[in-house]
Amino acid sequence: MTSSLDVIVIGAGVLGLASAAELAARGHVVSVIDPGEENASTVAAGMIAPAMESALDDLSLDVVAVLTAARRLWPDFARRHGLRLIEDGAEWRGQGGEEVARRLHALAWESEITEDRVATPHDARIEPAEALSHLASRVGVVTGRAMEAQRAERGWSVVLDDGRKLSADRLVVATGAGPALKGLPPKVAALIARIQPIRGQLAEVDGAGPALTVRTAAGYAVPSAGGMVVGASMEPGVRDLEPDPEAAARQVRAVCEEADLAEGSIRPRVGVRGALPDRLPAAGRLEGVAVALAPRRNGWLLAPLVARVVADALEGRPSEPWAAALAPDRPGLDLDSPHRRRAKRVNSGGSDPSAPAG
Ligand SMILES: Cc1cc2nc3c(=O)[nH]c(=O)nc-3n(C[C@H](O)[C@H](O)[C@H](O)COP(=O)(O)OP(=O)(O)OC[C@H]3O[C@@H](n4cnc5c(N)ncnc54)[C@H](O)[C@@H]3O)c2cc1C
Repeated sequence: MTSSLDVIVIGAGVLGLASAAELAARGHVVSVIDPGEENASTVAAGMIAPAMESALDDLSLDVVAVLTAARRLWPDFARRHGLRLIEDGAEWRGQGGEEVARRLHALAWESEITEDRVATPHDARIEPAEALSHLASRVGVVTGRAMEAQRAERGWSVVLDDGRKLSADRLVVATGAGPALKGLPPKVAALIARIQPIRGQLAEVDGAGPALTVRTAAGYAVPSAGGMVVGASMEPGVRDLEPDPEAAARQVRAVCEEADLAEGSIRPRVGVRGALPDRLPAAGRLEGVAVALAPRRNGWLLAPLVARVVADALEGRPSEPWAAALAPDRPGLDLDSPHRRRAKRVNSGGSDPSAPAG
């Protein structure tokens, strides 16, 4: 058995809290630092949707395999952490159904076609606010913004914006699409610099929502406590958190028309997701810290897998094959900075007249 570790997790989005809850369930002492503001995880629709995401998004088979593995972990993850997983499937409505059915079939996801609808039992959902508060209740959450990470005798210290300093054996960085904080090792800073922000807007709509998640060519409608959430935009490179009510109203109208749903009053909400070029998250250890970053548009779905890989990495257990797939320094990410690349060429005997000395 691994002896108990003191762990600081920076960031209380779903990746930070899921990793923290997993570590706490394994007997470690975990503190999570977060300013407590809205984030991508609180804004999300809460779909756990490997089948429809695989069929509708342009994903490699490697990404589909990771989404599928994460979905398999959900029932046990939900049970162990007291989360309510709603396994009511999803259905496609409106134009394009034949193509969706073809893609689901090609990827071996079970589906059933009736008139203009294509249903799959594999997708599920959670209520994000409820699930986050359950995860947070399992760990200590410290309200504040981490400003600097410092190597300390026993591991790491983190300096907060109000001057407080917390120390622990291990550090997990789960800061979403945010910037790298001062003091992180160079490769971790390089990884965070590779993360692209993708703005997403959805709308909470009052009234009667659908009985289960509905996907259409214009977007999705997911049942919620107050009615439904309709979304979402994908705006790469945009960090603007200001809602655009007209764009939200247009999307709600289009989805309701396509899915034959009634419109109610709407409240637009915006979140920024982080993504890496290969569309997979980064999870595991890198230069002495652990990271849980960049799950793109499937952070909720991926959370149990990322949490497992992070907890295994901190305990020094192999988490194959997923540890390799999500490795923060996997070859495709090319984390060597220009300075490091030049230094490597010089060290390996290559000649680069512009390489800096030292
Ligand atoms: C509109 C929309 C709909 C979505 N719908 C779904 C869905 O249905 N299903 C699904 O699986 N995914 C969905 N997603 C994607 C999902 O929300 C994200 O992939 C996921 O929430 C990202 O989680 P995270 O923990 O990486 O980041 P975040 O949720 O952004 O959390 C990062 C946290 O770190 C904190 N932080 C940053 N810097 C610091 C610092 N220096 N000190 C302390 N704290 C810091 C931030 O304040 C934030 O609280 C959706 C996203 C959007 C925007």
